[in-house]
Amino acid sequence: MSGLSDKIFNVVHYVANKVQRPAVILLYHRVTKLMQDPQELAVSPANYDAHLAHLAAEYNVLDATQFLDHVINKKPFPERAVFITFDDGYADNYHEALPLHAKHEVPALFYITTSKLNTPYELWWDDLERVLLTTDPLPLKLDVNIAGQAWEYPTDSFSAITETYYALQQVLRFCKPDVIESVMAQLYDWAGTTAEGRPTHRMMTWDELKVMSQSPYVTIGCHTHRHPAVGMLSYDEQLSEIGESKRLLEEHLRIPIEHFSYPFGSRKFLGSKRYYNADSIKASKALGLKMVCANYHGQVHSWSNSYALPRILVRNWELPEFKNKMQQFFKY
Ligand SMILES: [Zn+2]
Repeated sequence: MSGLSDKIFNVVHYVANKVQRPAVILLYHRVTKLMQDPQELAVSPANYDAHLAHLAAEYNVLDATQFLDHVINKKPFPERAVFITFDDGYADNYHEALPLHAKHEVPALFYITTSKLNTPYELWWDDLERVLLTTDPLPLKLDVNIAGQAWEYPTDSFSAITETYYALQQVLRFCKPDVIESVMAQLYDWAGTTAEGRPTHRMMTWDELKVMSQSPYVTIGCHTHRHPAVGMLSYDEQLSEIGESKRLLEEHLRIPIEHFSYPFGSRKFLGSKRYYNADSIKASKALGLKMVCANYHGQVHSWSNSYALPRILVRNWELPEFKNKMQQFFKY
């Protein structure tokens, strides 16, 4: 976004937040320490502990039932209302985040991608990082077929490999799940490695998720089966990807799933490529989902679209920075 449109959005947000008290939805992915974190998805356990302590003391953290009640009934939010969400279903959500939620007695909603649960395999962007950034040595160039088209990427130096990683990551975001799987299979062969993932990047087991779902501080939502940009799929494919994750979660956890978040979920797009579209909203409604979160900056008001709510991505900020950011999130 340009500096000017940033400023315009800030003014629009500022005025909206003066008209009505906003709520803020926070988006986390992982609570752990990693050797490298090119997507910046991990918040350290110490920082997350401090975030929750601050939110518990200074903000009104709503649980999913309370938040949904405000959203569905278009009720203005209480002062300093915050809703905490996690995407993807990493094992550290169970091992690191859950005990901190119990310690601070703070609720959160965890959106789960189901295809890699209970397996030693990683989600594709982690898998891409594992193959390209942790395999040594690699061949000097990568020839790969992506949806019937031949591509060539340089991999003859560390900086070339890093650039290739970021470039492929952008391309695969808008590919269908079968294409991503075929690209990864070619990469394993090319690098001389296997699909077996790193224990540090695994998803929860069904047993872990079951315990998690029984915590009074936890609500579970779905996040598709294989984590595609649903906006690139036909309506029927969207129904199937979203519906499969909902069905599996309901079957294993024996609870109704009412919440969903779009994978990636940004409103930014590339040409005709979208992360979600009108069909995504239609499919969510057809599946009986009651509230859907997207992933773009903004606050929630009683007039917000409950099938594409804005969320604010939280990075690995230390407490002073987190405090400042939280104040800003309620203004702009
Ligand atoms: Zn995700």
